[in-house]
Amino acid sequence: MLNNPIEYIHGVSTQRGDMLRKELQIFTFNDLLNFFPIRHVDKTKVDKIADLTYNLEYAQVAGKITDMEIIGEKRGRRLIAHLKDDSGEEIELVWFQGINWIQKALQVGQQYLVFGKLSFFMNRPQIAHPEVETFSAQNATGKSFLEPIYSSTEKLKARGLNGRAIGKFTYALLQLVAEHDLSENLPESIIKKYKFISRFEAYRHIHFPASEKHFQHAVRRLKFEELFFAQLRLGLIKSTRHRFSKGLVFDKVGNLFNTFYNNYLPFQLTGAQKRVLKEVRKDAGSGKQMNRLLQGDVGSGKTIVALMMMLIAADNGFQSVMMAPTEILAQQHYNGITQLLKDMPVCVKMLSGSSKAKERREVLKLCEDGSLHILIGTHAVIEDKVLFKNLGFAIIDEQHKFGVAQRAQLWKKNTIPPHVLVMTATPIPRTLALTAYGDLDYSVMDELPPGRQPINTVHRFENKRSQVMDFIKEEIGKGRQAFIIYPLIEESSKMDYENLMKGYEEVKSFFPEPKYWISMVHGKMDAAQKEINMQRFVNKDTQIMVSTTVIEVGVNVPNATVMVIESAEKFGLSQLHQLRGRVGRGAEKSFCILLTGSKISNDGRERLKIMVATNDGFKIAEKDLEIRGPGDIEGTQQSGLLNFKLANIVNDKVILEAAREAAENIVENDPDIIVAENLPVKNYLHQQKGKTVWSKIS
Ligand code: ADP
Ligand code: MG
Repeated sequence: MLNNPIEYIHGVSTQRGDMLRKELQIFTFNDLLNFFPIRHVDKTKVDKIADLTYNLEYAQVAGKITDMEIIGEKRGRRLIAHLKDDSGEEIELVWFQGINWIQKALQVGQQYLVFGKLSFFMNRPQIAHPEVETFSAQNATGKSFLEPIYSSTEKLKARGLNGRAIGKFTYALLQLVAEHDLSENLPESIIKKYKFISRFEAYRHIHFPASEKHFQHAVRRLKFEELFFAQLRLGLIKSTRHRFSKGLVFDKVGNLFNTFYNNYLPFQLTGAQKRVLKEVRKDAGSGKQMNRLLQGDVGSGKTIVALMMMLIAADNGFQSVMMAPTEILAQQHYNGITQLLKDMPVCVKMLSGSSKAKERREVLKLCEDGSLHILIGTHAVIEDKVLFKNLGFAIIDEQHKFGVAQRAQLWKKNTIPPHVLVMTATPIPRTLALTAYGDLDYSVMDELPPGRQPINTVHRFENKRSQVMDFIKEEIGKGRQAFIIYPLIEESSKMDYENLMKGYEEVKSFFPEPKYWISMVHGKMDAAQKEINMQRFVNKDTQIMVSTTVIEVGVNVPNATVMVIESAEKFGLSQLHQLRGRVGRGAEKSFCILLTGSKISNDGRERLKIMVATNDGFKIAEKDLEIRGPGDIEGTQQSGLLNFKLANIVNDKVILEAAREAAENIVENDPDIIVAENLPVKNYLHQQKGKTVWSKIS
């Protein structure tokens, strides 16, 4: 029934059906049913003209037309009628278009019901282009429901299918739909607990609610449903993995790990690092496949955790791969890790898009014959050509640049899929992480290594530039280094590129050679050049790094203590936080200076304020979510995981948590969904198979 084509609805011709399919992707009854109105018009009451006030946006009145005349010339030509109701007052009705036709259609002395946007002219009420119906016993007290308005498109409107006309179809559709077509999909106890109206009722009232309150009930129930099933699906994927997946077993902590831990680990692990290591080890020893998300603030020390896990993998005879989103970052991981392991018998190689052919062949051979322990690289490491003898562990650093599809590609690299650890670049709010990544296990590193001082963040306007430069000079005088970052919204943008060059020249004039040396890195450079310039900065051959946001993720230069961000108002919060995280990595006090022009939007101002106020990535992530909404959080847009139709995970937090609790309860107590009360849930999941983004993940 719900899969019927929309042409089966009264009034939908083949032509209109085509339009609905093309313009709104409405193919079936079900699609139309789930095409929710954007707002409603309230014609349920008839107002007295005497009671109309300025704060009413729309009005519906009933009365007699007392007179009607066309006045004005040419463009000013209009039809004016007066309608008087039994309150004895009059309202003016005006038409600028279709005048002749309307004049013929209406009659002085007749009773009409009139609706439209209310305005006041010389203190007298007026409606321009009202909707007019002949007054009758049926409509005497107004409509029995709110009238839905749907979003439409220019093309549809041109064919007479405006947002209101679509309501005629939904109305006709709802006459055809019976209770059993929209059978219940929630367990009885949940319906009782939250006093939900039935699904059938909810669909009726979201389109044609008897009142605002009915509408709210419908929305609440349908939002719950949406959030409940989304989280249930991911929860079931996780549960299935925990119960049935086959995983490689890392059951021993061997020589490599112990030697490293005892002789080469350059510092004490933080409590959080130890805890996460334990969680990961437990998973990897369980015989089930691990799929874990590691959240940690910038600088919390995720890399060392990853490295130590790769050593455990090697101790158990498995190879590991670590994947980073950029060449620079992969290179830096490679340099750091080879440095730490330089006296150990561990074979570490790097592979990226710019690896030379000969080198690449060699690395591929080492992967395939099993002599390589650790492969570090960019996307290049998941290409089909890269074959492993025995891949056991995969780490995805700075997760948000990788999608679900790439994760899946990793799984195929061994007959039993490797354990996967996904590490985020900047924290995502917990609510969002649990919802978007509900199929993953979840670890948090909420502690920074000891001795870190909070980064002092300030906002300075353009006109203080020379003071800012003087400050950089002072820091360089103490042997420190500085980043100066320019926005490059699009890598190819010519204007941004020119800005960067201008900035570079300007910085150069403040910091002349040979006293000072400056590195520059930007997206238009080839990888080798980038690497050389970066390396000069890392080696302290240059004191200043002028760069675009290619430097954004991960880069580690502990001697850098100043981060200047140009046009800081153009950056998003998580990006600002990520950039700021490039300093404050050593023991010295560090500074972040947000430079802006004098014109800043309110949102921009808010972002700067938050940056100045806190160093805590988790707090910033929450604020970011509040300001931008979930759709804009990096990594979640493409995945579509948080594109709910009705629900909004920021504003509907309460419903979200209730739905999570309900979903978790089923995942925990009835993961095969066999308990009688949960059968509606099971049936619904079956019905929906293959229809949602969620179901494609598993
Ligand atoms: P992120 O979590 O942002 O990837 P990194 O792994 O790059 O952070 O670590 C940031 C810096 O902190 C590095 O210089 C690293 O060597 C250092 N570090 C990591 N763990 C500790 C620790 N327990 N004690 C001291 N320094 C640490
Ligand atoms: Mg990192």
